Amino acid sequence: MAKLGDIIDGREISKKVRAEVKAKVDALKAKIGTTPHLVVVLASDDPASAVYVRNKGKAADEVGIRNTQHTLPADTSAEDLLALVEKLNADPDVDGILVQLPLPAHHDTEAVIRAIDPTKDVDGLHPNNAGRLARGDESDALIPCTPRGCIRLLEESGAQLEGANAVVLGRSRLVGRPVADLLTNRNATVTVCHSRTKELPAIAARADVLVAAIGRPYFVKGSFVKFGATVIDVGINRNDEGKLCGDVAFTAARERARAITPVPRGVGPMTIAFLLDNTLIAATRRRS
Ligand code: NAP
Repeated sequence: MAKLGDIIDGREISKKVRAEVKAKVDALKAKIGTTPHLVVVLASDDPASAVYVRNKGKAADEVGIRNTQHTLPADTSAEDLLALVEKLNADPDVDGILVQLPLPAHHDTEAVIRAIDPTKDVDGLHPNNAGRLARGDESDALIPCTPRGCIRLLEESGAQLEGANAVVLGRSRLVGRPVADLLTNRNATVTVCHSRTKELPAIAARADVLVAAIGRPYFVKGSFVKFGATVIDVGINRNDEGKLCGDVAFTAARERARAITPVPRGVGPMTIAFLLDNTLIAATRRRS
């Protein structure tokens, strides 16, 4: 068997993705005289969301993507937020709209997601985009950023997807479902596990590719990992000591995995990189 325990370095791979985006942004600018424009809407007073929004703006600046931030008071009415989304939909100079989630409880998050023009939906959460992806029609869709990041990490690690047994832990619209769709579209045989799954450890242990996206610290034990599997850990959790950790017991899993992502420096940096790429894709489709 090949060497075990390679670390898939998301920080390095995300740099590569951002450099690719920058080169394409430069090329677009040379061709049409303008750069993509991303608008991020922050409508909560959650400090973590404010950090995420700031980081997205900084990353966009670094690749030459114009970005505007709308910070709304946390008591902004549902009508006013929807009116802003409509205004951004109608603005021909806006390529990407991202409403930072979670929203305060008085908003209907699903209604806000559905209000975004699907061609500007850089989070890929609109039903039109999710539907296209689920139908295997990726070419016209905007696909959620974290799942795209997972696939790129798998590809960069040299994992064979075609014909692989892939197991995805989690079925959220944000991560689990789109990862499963992307793997299916790449000809993996996909099993999706969730909170009602029976014998999850045994199912996971058959996976050539194991993606964990459940949000439970160290849920995936070493024994859940088949020897030679490739493991992608999407989880971002705090352990009992308050330290950042994933869904996978990294040290034990690494002893059996062919290759594995750490937390931090795994999936996390890929998410912003693919937000930039989605904005570029939206701009290229809209403006060319
Ligand atoms: P979510 O919406 O809470 O979904 C969690 C999924 O895990 C659900 O499908 C749930 O099953 C399943 N689940 C929960 N406990 C389980 C258990 N004990 N056994 C089996 N399945 C279980 O979470 P999410 O948004 O998908 O995020 C998942 C994790 O990824 C979180 O830690 C989040 O912070 C992280 N994340 C990271 C990034 C990144 O950039 N790295 C981006 C997004 C999310 P049911 O459907 O049956 O309830």
